[in-house]
Amino acid sequence: MKKISKLLIGTNNKGKYKEIKDLLPKYIKTYSTSEFKLKSPAENGRTFIENSIIKSKYFSKKTKLICLADDSGLEIDILDKSPGIYSARWGGKKADFKKATKRVYKELSKKDINWKLKKVKARFICALSICYLDKKIASVLGKVEGYISVKPKGKNGFGYDPIFIPKNKRKTFGEMSSLQKYKIDHRFNAFKKIKKFL
Ligand code: IMP
Repeated sequence: MKKISKLLIGTNNKGKYKEIKDLLPKYIKTYSTSEFKLKSPAENGRTFIENSIIKSKYFSKKTKLICLADDSGLEIDILDKSPGIYSARWGGKKADFKKATKRVYKELSKKDINWKLKKVKARFICALSICYLDKKIASVLGKVEGYISVKPKGKNGFGYDPIFIPKNKRKTFGEMSSLQKYKIDHRFNAFKKIKKFL
């Protein structure tokens, strides 16, 4: 198979853009959606995989470039896997993650007033898809298992990073350096699977 030499990274999220760019082999010339001033499409799929394909095809058709897009989010077991594919939407129109975090804590207290005494299982999920125009080249899913911190900790990363403690670690993603986080997170795990298609 011919190696991909040019690739559009299909995300308007700066945190995700930086992480995906850092994971890609250096011989690939990358483009960002902001260079093309593209807005994100409506994410009306039912799964992370479906949404990543919607984004990848949309951005590819707009730019005529092969596109790698992701869809990701946080699943909390006792909240029936919420916020899940609605992770970004819990932050509201302005993607305010203080607001999203407050919502998580509110929902947890509603579900179980003693949740802080228990380990609340959660995981980050990342679907990655590569598409060219209307054709899907590859789709994969990566995960990282962990727990919800009883309070937000750390200022690094983005989104729900300050409230997520990966399994077998003491720190939240928000307290880790980006290098520490990237080596174990859901995007990296998905990336390991999609690498062979690049
Ligand atoms: P989308 O994939 O752009 O629909 O949004 C995914 C949302 O999930 C982000 O806006 C974050 O709220 C959350 N999310 C995904 N990956 C991470 C991560 O690595 N750290 C923290 N939050 C994340």
